[in-house]
Amino acid sequence: MKHYIIPVFIPHLGCLHQCIFCNQKKITGCQTPVTANQVSTMIYERLNTINQKRWIEVAFYGGSFTALPENIQNELLAPASRALRNGSIHAIRLSTRPDCINKDIIANLIRQGVTIVELGVQSLDNHVLTSARRGHDSQSVTNAVKLLKESGIHCGLQLMPGLPGEDWVSLIKTVRQAITLHPEFVRIYPVIVIADTVLARLYSQGSYQPLSLEQAVARSAYMKLVFEQQGIEVIRTGLQASAELDNKTNVISGPYHPAFGELVDSYIFYLMLAGFMEQKWRASEEKLIIRHHPQDCSKVRGQCNNNINKLTAAYNITKATLYADSSVKKGCLLLEHHGRVVLFNKNLIKCI
Ligand code: SF4
Repeated sequence: MKHYIIPVFIPHLGCLHQCIFCNQKKITGCQTPVTANQVSTMIYERLNTINQKRWIEVAFYGGSFTALPENIQNELLAPASRALRNGSIHAIRLSTRPDCINKDIIANLIRQGVTIVELGVQSLDNHVLTSARRGHDSQSVTNAVKLLKESGIHCGLQLMPGLPGEDWVSLIKTVRQAITLHPEFVRIYPVIVIADTVLARLYSQGSYQPLSLEQAVARSAYMKLVFEQQGIEVIRTGLQASAELDNKTNVISGPYHPAFGELVDSYIFYLMLAGFMEQKWRASEEKLIIRHHPQDCSKVRGQCNNNINKLTAAYNITKATLYADSSVKKGCLLLEHHGRVVLFNKNLIKCI
């Protein structure tokens, strides 16, 4: 069943710290926190427009939900809990800080019907967390994930490549550590420079340089690949495109792209093609036939045929022919060369 999320933004509500990269008011376009009545109206207005055959969730984003006093949490959750009880929606999810999770908080969430919690983790490198003024360390993440998993709540991690002080070594450490926590899913949001943040000031002073789009795509692709190879679902790479993010006065710099997820998937296809070439291609060969699922066509080719151009140049291929073939599974490639046929998928890319 297709998912549909009814988002409820609570910009900075409950936040104990001002993280250097964050300005939820600019990202969400919501200037004031919602009331319980508004939550109720939002849910029922959306329900009237949704195909009811979908899996529908109400999701509270943009703040530190579980840092709010319990009575406020329950007030905001009440309309969603009612909709859950009467069968209008299927689940409630919320995002919060890792250091605002304990057994009592979880018990209350379960009473209100919450079944999915997303933790704003960003990095598991303590040096990076300190630079981002997160106010918690990686141990808080380990503790929160353990408690959530023990309680049966589905737990997801939000990670942000590109924070100050992060390099490839730090990123790989974060990914490896995140895998040991066995989250149910991960979201990957490369850092962008939002107006009216400490990061924007650092950027204007020349003390912070965001990742280029190419660097952000490469890091996100690495993360997605490794998580998926470990059976951990990556439910999003890059922020959801919106009028607020398209506005240059809100996003000052950084790797924002309205189709960021597509760029990441396309880069992964390039890694698959390059992985095949490294493992199977012989220097004497010249022609390659690439069969892919019809829905993967643009991702396999890359923007402006970039993947194929790069591949043919790097490996001296005189002719690469692509065929859309519905017998090939989505995300896989069937590669014909020198009379042989090789099935290649993400799991065959060797990652460190
Ligand atoms: S990242 Fe999360 S905790 Fe930090 S300021 Fe933004 S909403 Fe608050």
